[in-house]
Amino acid sequence: MYEPVIGLEIHLQVQTNSKMFCRCPNNCFEQKPNTYICPVCVGLPGALPVPNKFAFEQAIRLALALHCDITKETKFDRKNYFYPDLPKGYQITQFDTPLGTNGYVQIELEGDVKRFRIKRLHLEEDTAKSLHFEGKKTLIDFNKSGIPLIEIVTAPDFVDKKEVTSFAKRLRQIIRYIGISEGEMQKGQIRFELNMSLRTPEQAGSSVLPDYKIEVKNIGSISVLEKVIDFEYLRQKNLLENGKKIVSETRGLKNMTGETVFQRYKESSDDYRYFTEPDIPPIKISDDWINYCRKSLPILPAEKKYYYLQLGLENDQADFLVEEKNAGEWFDKLIITFFQGIQFEFRFVNESITEAKEILKNLPYNPIKESVKWFMGDVLGLMEKKSIKLEHLPINQQHVLDITNQVKNGKITGTIAKDILNDLFNSQFQGKTIDEIVLSQNLTLNNDMSAIEVWVTEAIEQNQDIVESCKKNPNAIKALVGKVMQLSKGKANPKMVEQAISDKIFINK
Ligand SMILES: [Zn+2]
Repeated sequence: MYEPVIGLEIHLQVQTNSKMFCRCPNNCFEQKPNTYICPVCVGLPGALPVPNKFAFEQAIRLALALHCDITKETKFDRKNYFYPDLPKGYQITQFDTPLGTNGYVQIELEGDVKRFRIKRLHLEEDTAKSLHFEGKKTLIDFNKSGIPLIEIVTAPDFVDKKEVTSFAKRLRQIIRYIGISEGEMQKGQIRFELNMSLRTPEQAGSSVLPDYKIEVKNIGSISVLEKVIDFEYLRQKNLLENGKKIVSETRGLKNMTGETVFQRYKESSDDYRYFTEPDIPPIKISDDWINYCRKSLPILPAEKKYYYLQLGLENDQADFLVEEKNAGEWFDKLIITFFQGIQFEFRFVNESITEAKEILKNLPYNPIKESVKWFMGDVLGLMEKKSIKLEHLPINQQHVLDITNQVKNGKITGTIAKDILNDLFNSQFQGKTIDEIVLSQNLTLNNDMSAIEVWVTEAIEQNQDIVESCKKNPNAIKALVGKVMQLSKGKANPKMVEQAISDKIFINK
């Protein structure tokens, strides 16, 4: 088997109020062309760039979150090339003093933990946008010119597309958690470049790097990224199997099916004639500044997932809550509310988790694990059905905890719990607790055996056919339980009903 050797370059737009080197607003998506521009970002002679401090700090924060070393003395450089979307004739970027180096992202893959190395992370400015009109003419929109960009370059550590997509998704989570960007690919906020070659079957599993590299630029979604990997794998494998030598080249996307086409042979860095940007003084990053940025980092996805698993959630529940950041934050409040109720201050830190686990161990059931099912199933389901946003939910964390407890303690049935949730979503019972609703609506399960026996007798009389099939197949008893639940309007305790029926059919006859 030929083995892919894959490295990624990721460009991500930093969400800021203004552009990287001027005061033009940075929110030009779908705005009228050339309305968010000034002499700096269209490269008029004499215009001077001033670096955006906030963008700089966001890059330091991301570098820290990716475990990079921070370069203490850094600077900007000019990368010279001529292209219509680059009005100055050069791009301001960082060449030999990238802000961050030697980082990594750690990912759990089918039980294995794997580290993917980050070679470098640096800041630069985005280019303008060329709009081509069917070979007739090209127009340029400079709104995007000068938007702050972070470029991340990984080591060629990926050997299949599962690793690549897991990495891309985790990186997007980290970016969202830190608040650098919403990570919306359809808006071009994250773009990927793929570097790919193949190890021969003899080289597979080794760390040998092939003597060529194919670069595919401007991939705007994770699904297209996967398709490009499939396409390139077959294309390169075919060439190698036919004894062809592959030369390093840059290829472009032909279409969204992942097919690529030749663009040009690769430039080396000599071609860009890099030199220090003379209009921006070098920048020193002090330890205090780094610590300030470090302190502002939130809990990150990998840690968050670890904590969810420690609290007893299933792997895919944890993955969901990590990926859907807002839903995760809503559920975090439920966890905190639960522990407040037993007078324990819960935080997502190790000592607190250890104590929390101890508390949960001594309970008859795990309320957090049980609540997440109600939250992810019914609550989010109703929310979607009724197109309600999470911040406008008509129920709170205590409601979900109470529903869970009432059902687990046999006070109400799951069906009634669903009805209550539905009513709450229809804005009934506003301001009431679950206990109050259950009491006022008289929804408590009927645990009175004499009342249950009346319903059971009635159900047996009316359904002799089911009784007969119960004698052949004891599982048919579920159908009779259903009949009793109907007669009791859902309020008979189903466990007691099942007991009463089996006593009647199998013992008393
Ligand atoms: Zn500007």
